Amino acid sequence: MGLKTNNPEDNQIKKKLWDFIKKWDTIIIHRHVRPDPDAIGSQCGLKEIIKASFPEKHVYAVGAEVEDLAYLGSMDTIPEDVYDEALVIVTDTANIKRIDDDRFRLAKEWIKIDHHPLDDSYGEIEWINTKASSCCEMITDLWLTYPEEITMTTEAARLLYGGIVGDTNRFLYDSTSTYTMQIAAELMKYPFSHTELNNQMNVIKPDTGKMMGYALEHFEVSDLGVGHIVLTQELLKSLGLDDNETHSIVPLLGKIENVRVWAVFVEQSDGGYRCRLRSKGPVINDIAQLHGGGGHPLASGTHAKTEDEIQEILSELKQAVIEYSK
Ligand code: AMP
Repeated sequence: MGLKTNNPEDNQIKKKLWDFIKKWDTIIIHRHVRPDPDAIGSQCGLKEIIKASFPEKHVYAVGAEVEDLAYLGSMDTIPEDVYDEALVIVTDTANIKRIDDDRFRLAKEWIKIDHHPLDDSYGEIEWINTKASSCCEMITDLWLTYPEEITMTTEAARLLYGGIVGDTNRFLYDSTSTYTMQIAAELMKYPFSHTELNNQMNVIKPDTGKMMGYALEHFEVSDLGVGHIVLTQELLKSLGLDDNETHSIVPLLGKIENVRVWAVFVEQSDGGYRCRLRSKGPVINDIAQLHGGGGHPLASGTHAKTEDEIQEILSELKQAVIEYSK
C-alpha cells in the first residue's frame, strides 16, 4: 500500500485520538439517528478495524437497525452496564440531539469524529475535518496515517467504500477530491464486490419509485430556481412508505434544469415537517441553523413547525439565491 494520508495538519489530533482509543478495552460506537450509508459505514468500519487491530478489545456498534441498510451491517445489543467502563466514539454526528441511543451519556469519555461543520462541541477529543467528503473518508485517512498499526479488512473496506459512495452521491458532489478518489481506489484493492455494493445502494422499492413519480410531477420550481415539494403523511401512508424512505427523491429533484436550491418537506406524525435542503451554489446551512437544524453549506436539514415556517424557509432560500447572483 503506497498511499499515505494527505491530511498532515490533523496529525496531532489523530495521534491523540488513536493513542486514546488504544487505552480502552471496551469501545462503543454510536452515529446519528436516521443513518445513511456514511453513518453506518463509518461506525461499523471503525468497529471492524479496531477489532482487527486489537482482537482482545470489546467493540460494539449501537443504534436502531435500519432495514434498508441491512446489507451494510447490523447493530449490537448491549446492556447498560457495559457503558460503565467504556469509551464512546460518535461518528458522523454534528449535534448531540442527533446521536442515536441516548445511553452514550453513561460513558465517562466520548470522542467525536465528524466531517460536518462544528455544531455542538462534545467529547474529550473532537476530530472534525469539513474538507473530507465523508466520515468514512476520515476513518480511511486514520488507517492511512497508521498503516502499520491499523489492520484493514475486506469487510471494513466494503463498509468505508460504501459510505464514501453514499455521501458523495457516487463521486458527484463537490466534496469529492482527488484524495477521495485515491482512497476509494485503495479500498477497492480489497476483494469485496464493489459492483454488488453499488447495486445494493441503487435499489429502490417499487413504492419508492411511485413516490419519485409523484415528486417529479408535483415539484414546484420558481423563476429564481427555488424548488420545493411537500410530502404529506397521507401520501406516505397511501404508498406504505415512511420518512426514512424519502431520501432518494432529494438528488433526483436536483437534476431538473434551472433548479438552484431545493427543499423537500416531509410531514411528520406530530404535524411538523422534516426539511431537507440542497443547493448548487448559494450557502443554505445558515438557513437550516436559523430553524434549529444544520449541516453542510450545500446540503443541510432542519424542521419546520408549520406551513408558515415552510413559507419562511422558502423566502429565505429565495433571498440566498438573490444574494448569490449579485
Ligand atoms: P439529510 O437531508 O437528512 O440528508 O441531511 C443533510 C445534512 O444536513 C447532513 O449532513 C445532516 O447532518 C444535516 N442535517 C439534517 N437534518 C439536520 C438537523 N435536524 N439538524 C442538524 N443537521 C441536520
